[in-house]
Amino acid sequence: MSVGWLRACALVMLGLFSVSALAKDKTAIVIGGGLSGLTAAYELQNKGWQVTLLEARSSLGGRSGMATSEWIGNDKTQPVLNQYVSTFKLSTTPAPEFVRTPSYLIDGEYFSAADLATKQPATAEALKRFEKTRDDLARSIDDPQNPIASSTLQALDQINVSNWLDKQNLPATARQLINQDIRTHYDEPSRLSMLYYAQQSRVYRGVSDRDLRASRLVGGSPVLAQAFVKQLKTIKTDSPVSAIIQDKDGVTVKVGSVGYQADYVVLAVPLRALNKIQMTPALDAQHLAAIKGTNYGWRDQIMLKFKTPVWETKARMTGEIYSNTGLGMLWIEPALKGGANVVINLSGDNARVMQAFGDKQMADQVLIRLHAFYPQARGSFTGYEIRRYSTDPSTGGAYLAFGPGQISKFWRLWERPIQRVAFAGEHTDTLYPGTLEGALRTGKRAASQVEDLAAGKSFEPAKAATAAAAGAVAAKKGNFFSNLFGGSADEKKPEPVKAPEPAVAPAPTPAPAPAAAPAPVEPPKPAAPVKAEPAKKAPAKAPAKPAAKTETKKAPAKAPVKKAETAKKPAVKPATETVTKAQ
Ligand SMILES: Cc1cc2nc3c(=O)[nH]c(=O)nc-3n(C[C@H](O)[C@H](O)[C@H](O)COP(=O)(O)OP(=O)(O)OC[C@H]3O[C@@H](n4cnc5c(N)ncnc54)[C@H](O)[C@@H]3O)c2cc1C
Repeated sequence: MSVGWLRACALVMLGLFSVSALAKDKTAIVIGGGLSGLTAAYELQNKGWQVTLLEARSSLGGRSGMATSEWIGNDKTQPVLNQYVSTFKLSTTPAPEFVRTPSYLIDGEYFSAADLATKQPATAEALKRFEKTRDDLARSIDDPQNPIASSTLQALDQINVSNWLDKQNLPATARQLINQDIRTHYDEPSRLSMLYYAQQSRVYRGVSDRDLRASRLVGGSPVLAQAFVKQLKTIKTDSPVSAIIQDKDGVTVKVGSVGYQADYVVLAVPLRALNKIQMTPALDAQHLAAIKGTNYGWRDQIMLKFKTPVWETKARMTGEIYSNTGLGMLWIEPALKGGANVVINLSGDNARVMQAFGDKQMADQVLIRLHAFYPQARGSFTGYEIRRYSTDPSTGGAYLAFGPGQISKFWRLWERPIQRVAFAGEHTDTLYPGTLEGALRTGKRAASQVEDLAAGKSFEPAKAATAAAAGAVAAKKGNFFSNLFGGSADEKKPEPVKAPEPAVAPAPTPAPAPAAAPAPVEPPKPAAPVKAEPAKKAPAKAPAKPAAKTETKKAPAKAPVKKAETAKKPAVKPATETVTKAQ
């Protein structure tokens, strides 16, 4: 045997050993199959890691919204999202002009921004004045990644947005519309840190609405989730993680009595869900306080389905529409499957109080209000879908929305790994929390942190921001029905607000029908009704079909990830079909 041949054999052997050694060393578990977890799993797998993704529910995609064909920003505003859209060759179509700017529904009358300027100049002018004041404030934040750069900015974290708005002397309608905008995108103004609102305004300063709604992702965000799912080798659905145990050699992740082992973990679940996972060693006091205390916005979505677009007779409604009547942002869906849909976002305290209603009651109440404006509504109504993110135990809120004092305490806390666990999820992003972009960015960041950890890099422990302790904020109590018809009580009677609460439904409030309300509407049985029982059923706009039936029960008490059977690649389901488990 020649020396060259021996050398070649040796190299091959070395190569094989090093590959297998590498593979042996590079195992990761991703917990949470929302877009952040899917991204982390995809990125790690692409870098040669053996990845197992564990998802509590039977379906993947997490909070990706109900809309079946979302508008997305261009690559200037959402670069990471656009990068994946292009990687997976997903279809988009340019947004028509009329959806690219917000419009308004004031006392039932539809106004485009241009209409408002001519027909309601006082309101239009007040909105402009408010935007300028807000933008000036945002400009005082040099670096949105470091918003607590001065004592003035620290002070902003101690007040809520409602208090700040009170000082702007806005006319009633303008204030109602502004409240509606803020509660739709974040949370009730009275529960939101003014610094957080200013920081987010800084992030989006100079970004036009036109850039934010530049094109349509055909099929919506579930299509993006499905594209990731198709690439992933090992996915286990119906696998709610109950415990994570770290030691010097690795991490054990428990799903009931089954244990999975790996070198590193990406924890991509919202804070309320993280609260239910037992961590060993335990998290420190600051992390525990953040889990319990960080405010999440409330935003529930109701899709009302009609045979024909009942609103067409009065106005063309589409895109983001802010109403002064408490109906929240309206979003007219394209009639992809025939008929016409309107997605109504109930946000902030309106959504909180609505938790006292059952699904049908809630749909009825909203339909009654729409019918008041559009008398064909009841006759054309065919059914509804509801998603309640804040009472869903695997979500516990719509998205992160820092309350007063919370930036000072928890800023960038989840950006740093703790030993072998890196964190992902929209709530861990500094610039774009509460968005798809934020979720995707954090998935990428967590994947690269796991690589760094494997390479021996250590991360500094998180430090609290240096602001003063959160000031006490007192309570604002709104009457839901007065809010629903006339905007929040906070429009009329500025009162101090209570400290932001965790996602707990308020005490049930009786649901009196308004005096002039039409008879309760009996929704005919829709073809595929999707009731909001998030923990049990697949979401309405079902993400990708899950992997083959989970093997959690059969799995041995210690089921090393490396030996875990590769789940079948989940088939892609149409966005609105109910997902059933593969056999
Ligand atoms: C009503 C609404 C409208 C929105 N509209 C937009 C929009 O127009 N544009 C935009 O960019 N963004 C929007 N967003 C935000 C966007 O949807 C989210 O930021 C994003 O989907 C969050 O992804 P994530 O991976 O961080 O979390 P999630 O999607 O919540 O994923 C977390 C996953 O973890 C799972 N999980 C929880 N606990 C466990 C456990 N113990 N074990 C295993 N798995 C667990 C959950 O089931 C879930 O699948 C909207 C959100 C809502 C609620």
